[in-house]
Amino acid sequence: MSAWTSTRSMAGSNEDWQQRLATSLKQHAWSAALTNIVVKLAAGEQLTLQDGLTLYHHPNLNEVGLLANEVRTARFDNKAFFNSNVHVNQTNVCVLACKFCAFRRSKKAKDAYSMDIDAYIEDLAKYAEHVDEVHSVGGLHPDWGVEHYESLFQATKKAFPHITIKALTAVEIKHLSQVSNTTYEDTLRRLKEAGLGSLPGGGAEILDDEVRAIICNGKESSDEYLEIHRTAHNVGLSTNCTMLFGTIETLEQRLNHMISLRNLANETNGFQCFVPYPYLPDNSRLPEAQLATGSEVLRTIAISRLMLDSIPHIKAYRMNIGDELAELALQFGADDIDGTVQKESIMHLAGSTTPLEHDRFQLSRLIKDAGCIPIQRNTTYERFELYDAPEPKRIRRLNVVQ
Ligand code: SF4
Repeated sequence: MSAWTSTRSMAGSNEDWQQRLATSLKQHAWSAALTNIVVKLAAGEQLTLQDGLTLYHHPNLNEVGLLANEVRTARFDNKAFFNSNVHVNQTNVCVLACKFCAFRRSKKAKDAYSMDIDAYIEDLAKYAEHVDEVHSVGGLHPDWGVEHYESLFQATKKAFPHITIKALTAVEIKHLSQVSNTTYEDTLRRLKEAGLGSLPGGGAEILDDEVRAIICNGKESSDEYLEIHRTAHNVGLSTNCTMLFGTIETLEQRLNHMISLRNLANETNGFQCFVPYPYLPDNSRLPEAQLATGSEVLRTIAISRLMLDSIPHIKAYRMNIGDELAELALQFGADDIDGTVQKESIMHLAGSTTPLEHDRFQLSRLIKDAGCIPIQRNTTYERFELYDAPEPKRIRRLNVVQ
């Protein structure tokens, strides 16, 4: 295994990827229906809502996937990124009750929990030796303000200086700011000072306030989500962004969601990764949801790659879509497959059956089986390591002639 390297080209920042793309797109005979889109991609133009609809309605899913794969390959060759992380969800107590959420509990519920700082550190200690990132999101605890998280992050960095804290979704930042009666900027600056390294993208759901009023009433508005991420970028925190699809939204609303995020990325260059994931219905309250099929998941990942040129990484979130679909997604425009994870609650309560015990070796095998080169990254995509695991021994199967 090679040592960590900080070569930015590992992350596809090499500016001539656009030139490579223009060349590689010429090597295929594309359907007439995709001609305009191919021309725009070759010229580095951003796709429109109508282009996105064309891609959603195009009858040949493989061709949409091939187009997305050309963009991904021009940018990252066939590298696929992962990290060594663990999810620690600090509390499931939440003052809201989003309809798609299987995780939240009222404060008085029998299975409500809130980890104090010692309990959080104790939990993280079980995994600390094997991870360099802790991903912490949780409910909106009525009593926890900025001060609580300052203490938590300071204690975490003191105990585990090598671990990057990626924590708190936009709605949690809004909630802390309200509890502590301060601004988003002050909240984010103080948390960064205390050790916060990056913000995850959760809570975006669909950035359309009519949809939000039904599926997550009381959560931050679309504009507030964007404003909190803009503020994070302005104070020097890079963030991810997400899309929860397959609830009640239309294709136009999905595409407008992507365009809103792209516009902010054009402005701040602060989003590092987009994570599109389908709604999982177990233990939640949204019977009207139009659940996404496997091919719809792949198509949405591919369209994300094509629409979002100003957000470098597209993640196949295997916690949600499963290892098998995540592996396929690496051929449909995704370049990142999340991490070793080890522990996760939110998606598993909603119905995920993705195994949690993966180590780096197993993840790298999954990536290699998809035809890609496994590259371990840190949280902020600034350090990389080629994970050159030995080939697993394959079982020889005998050909049985009947
Ligand atoms: S999604 Fe977040 S804000 Fe909504 S109920 Fe669940 S924990 Fe609370």
